[in-house]
Amino acid sequence: MEIKIQKCQVCKSRDLRNILVRDEIQKVYVQCRACGELVARYMLSKGGYFHAGRGFESFLRSHEREGDMDSARTLSTAFEDMEENIEKEFTNLKGMMKDIFGDTLP
Ligand SMILES: [Zn+2]
Repeated sequence: MEIKIQKCQVCKSRDLRNILVRDEIQKVYVQCRACGELVARYMLSKGGYFHAGRGFESFLRSHEREGDMDSARTLSTAFEDMEENIEKEFTNLKGMMKDIFGDTLP
């Protein structure tokens, strides 16, 4: 696994703003707060967005928008699995960042 902490290519600032865009496809524009330049744009795959702490209702609405016709039971299981996996992965990621960068993250 490779880990990178994003920074502005222009001014090297790590003070970044995520702008979430919902179009035909969901996108995230990353803007530098220091100089205002575009840093990156991500396009999310279907069901690829997870909003921590927002719960199952929010997950259901995003599936409705995507026209997902799975049953509530299937979606409920999918949500629980996803939430658990993302939390595990993030905990693991924090451990890896500490190993790489020490106590002071860039
Ligand atoms: Zn910048």
